[in-house]
Amino acid sequence: MFAGVQKVYSRKMTAVTADSILGRFRRVGALLEGHFRLTSGLHSPGYLQSALVLQHPREAEACGQAIANHVRALGAQAVLSPALGGIVIGQEVGRALDVRALFAERQDGRLTLRRGFSLAPGERVLVVEDVVTTGGSTRETIDVARAAGAEVVGAAAIIDRSGGAPHLGVPFHALATVSLPMYQPEVCPLCAAGLPVVKPGSRA
Ligand SMILES: [Zn+2]
Repeated sequence: MFAGVQKVYSRKMTAVTADSILGRFRRVGALLEGHFRLTSGLHSPGYLQSALVLQHPREAEACGQAIANHVRALGAQAVLSPALGGIVIGQEVGRALDVRALFAERQDGRLTLRRGFSLAPGERVLVVEDVVTTGGSTRETIDVARAAGAEVVGAAAIIDRSGGAPHLGVPFHALATVSLPMYQPEVCPLCAAGLPVVKPGSRA
């Protein structure tokens, strides 16, 4: 179901592996089954509600440290995440790397830096997400950093459910890779079966 199992250790020497990451999601009921419309517009029988894992600060910290251990060599000077889903894990990766953690948020449908956040020209930025589905919001966040003049040195996520390495054009690392089917709505078998579709995220 997943690949790329790599063992790393947090400060308390808790093993953070792809298995344990997925175990965390299962344990807290964050791996939802049903019929979901994802942010990308695609439909899926599975949804990963990372907020249910990240609500536990020690879990969030362990994920942040595990990501940081993989990306430290990229020499990021700041972390940039898309709101809302990326904020908590971005903060934890920033803490583990001891660099600033900023977030971009939507204004009139476009991701943008607000709240006085800025990136210096040439500043080395790591884009951090909770779950990468199609890579769309990751790419958009990369564009925000570049538009600010920063250099994007890589991207990272807790889980990659893109069904293969997302094409981001920068080095990418995820703690776990999960295969969950995704369908265009027109060919979704769950729609064909008449199951109501729900938009998870804020409510689910
Ligand atoms: Zn459907």
